[in-house]
Amino acid sequence: MSQNSEKNLEAIYDICDRLYTDMCNNQNNDHSVLFSYLTELGKTLVGADRASFWKWDKRKNTLWTMSATGTGKIEIPDGTGLVGKAMREKRIVITNDPYSDPDFNPSVDKKTGYVTKSVLVMPVADLNGTYIGAFQIINKFSDDGFNEEDTRKLSLAALICGIALESETFLEESHHDKLTKLKNRMGFYSDFSKKYQKLLDAGTPLSMFISDIDKFKRVNDTYGHNAGDDVLSFVAGILAGSCRENDSIYRWGGEEFIMLMPDTKLEESVNIANSIREHIAATEVNADGNTLNVTMSFGCHIFDPALTIEENISKADEHLYTAKETGRNKVVF
Ligand code: GH3
Ligand code: MG
Ligand code: MG
Repeated sequence: MSQNSEKNLEAIYDICDRLYTDMCNNQNNDHSVLFSYLTELGKTLVGADRASFWKWDKRKNTLWTMSATGTGKIEIPDGTGLVGKAMREKRIVITNDPYSDPDFNPSVDKKTGYVTKSVLVMPVADLNGTYIGAFQIINKFSDDGFNEEDTRKLSLAALICGIALESETFLEESHHDKLTKLKNRMGFYSDFSKKYQKLLDAGTPLSMFISDIDKFKRVNDTYGHNAGDDVLSFVAGILAGSCRENDSIYRWGGEEFIMLMPDTKLEESVNIANSIREHIAATEVNADGNTLNVTMSFGCHIFDPALTIEENISKADEHLYTAKETGRNKVVF
């Protein structure tokens, strides 16, 4: 084995070792860390200057980078550029003269001043054989450009990327509610352990409310389930639109929502809940062709660090119950 390939192998072992150690120690399963290792692995495997991993967003019809060395997040319409071509044609694309390739999109070069000389794009599929993204390597160090042998070397990183991407997509979907697009109860617990528990431990006040649509069953019974769904989406939109930078809103259950407000005193959270309550009550909603007005009740609570999450939520729930018992369309704390 030549000295060069031995050095290369050493570099690969080193990346894999760091990746393995990080994955075992990283309880948050941060996919962005994984993708940055994988792009580094891809660069090292073929000896290239840059690597990026592109994820296909089917709903938005875009491709965006998970991790691109040397640049921030970039989003492009799907089907465009060499990544789009590889995904569209479901094949590996190699070009060692990108500027004469009509599919090459020089806009990133123009924006950043970088000069792309050679490109290799490997589309990656999930375990069902559906194409979900692409691995792109740019500017091979040796002058002869990319070749078939490079795709063989890259296949290991592309394979892991495909599986990691699929697992990330599953995780993302399992944390979100399809109807309202808000995070669900699983998303709540994940965010709580990653972010809010740390704030509480550091002594930051954390306020919350739990809110519930008033007489929602009547909407379903009178106007049908589709109208009920429209009302849920409408309320979710107002709640999400009311979040400040560090607040989060979750669909806790059927027609119940929880908002978390860090660095917020109880009184302030009551004011926020009241302004949302007024906004909802004053806004007409088109529910499956019917114009309706709905109201919501709110229970506010400031987290007691000595209690469990569930005990804290129960406190807010008690206030919500009181709001329901004493006339609805109100905030109790
Ligand atoms: P209250 O003011 O006491 O909260 O009365 P309510 O009628 O809102 O309360 P209840 O708990 O009796 O009704 C909640 C209803 O929410 C029952 C359920 O069918 C409906 N629901 C839950 N999830 C969905 C959903 O995803 N879509 C629709 N359309 N309805 C839903
Ligand atoms: Mg209700
Ligand atoms: Mg309810």
